[in-house]
Amino acid sequence: MVEQKVVWVSGRAVPDKQVEDNLIWNGLFIDNTDKKSLELELKRTNDELKRAQKVGRVGHWQANLKSRELIRSTMVRELLGLEKTDSNTSIERFNSLVHPDDLEDVKSLERLTPDNNKLQIQHRMQHADGHYIWVEEFAELQDDGYTLIGTFRDITEQKTLELELLKKSSTDRMTGIYNRGYFTEQVDKELSRAKRNGRPLSLIILDIDHFKNCNDSYGHPFGDEVIIKIASLLKNTVRSHDTAARIGGEEFAALLPETNQADAALVAEKLRTTISAHKFSKNGDDIFVTVTLGVAEVQSGDNWTKLFNRADKALYRGKQSGRDQVFLASDL
Ligand code: GH3
Ligand code: MG
Ligand code: MG
Repeated sequence: MVEQKVVWVSGRAVPDKQVEDNLIWNGLFIDNTDKKSLELELKRTNDELKRAQKVGRVGHWQANLKSRELIRSTMVRELLGLEKTDSNTSIERFNSLVHPDDLEDVKSLERLTPDNNKLQIQHRMQHADGHYIWVEEFAELQDDGYTLIGTFRDITEQKTLELELLKKSSTDRMTGIYNRGYFTEQVDKELSRAKRNGRPLSLIILDIDHFKNCNDSYGHPFGDEVIIKIASLLKNTVRSHDTAARIGGEEFAALLPETNQADAALVAEKLRTTISAHKFSKNGDDIFVTVTLGVAEVQSGDNWTKLFNRADKALYRGKQSGRDQVFLASDL
């Protein structure tokens, strides 16, 4: 039996001569089933890839570090909410949409070398609506040394969840400021940074004076209220790049990068006066609370324990010498 199958052919014909009323065509039929199958397979794979990229919210791009041109896939354009007609496809344009705090990470892609040619980064980019999305990019420098190829994936959902979890695990439930665990991690980081850059770093610790009396006289819930208020006064008094935390029941700390002991003492004094001036009320009574603070600056060879012990000794001396004061580790 003859096998039946469909074949793809292409044909070409030219009119030749006329016999009576009929035009005679001379033509050629070529069986290009193989070529056509390959084309169809390629199209199918391409469509699948496009669908998968759409589902996974993945796009891709290619940047030319010489001409500064960046060609992006439709998905990249869509993820950024850009119009179809948006034709500015330079690296500079792309970078202008990167969150300013993440720009250094993104620019590190341009420092890839043939020996170190791959990089994975996560950063924020501004959507055309104005809000920021989180993206993850895998980039690879090609052999020519100036073509970068990368994937671009929207990870906003997972990143938001990750940041929420991180926030929860680093926050003190009662006061909403950082907890002891996060604070000590931060001290480790800042200690290494201060050592590396030869910059000053100071620690303030703070303990509420006669807090037992406060609880005994006005009740534990009132004590909690005092702790919450002092946490917020502490957070609002330090600068945005300082770290404020509740490190114990009624003990707090602040880590001040780029700050020597004398300047940290000024911040501590400001905290002392701000807290002692705050009027609490209970059962018609006006209640004022004082705190004692210890201040220490990082010395060479310090770790968290050594630094904390010096600040804690200073705090203890402040308690011994009458409370409601700032005591410096250098005066021990
Ligand atoms: P000092 O001036 O020497 O610090 O005296 P103090 O009474 O504050 O003494 P200490 O620091 O030893 O007392 C801490 C008290 O703080 C004891 C504890 O019951 C209370 N405390 C600790 N955590 C909490 C809390 O979360 N809420 C309340 N209301 N009280 C707390
Ligand atoms: Mg205490
Ligand atoms: Mg106390």
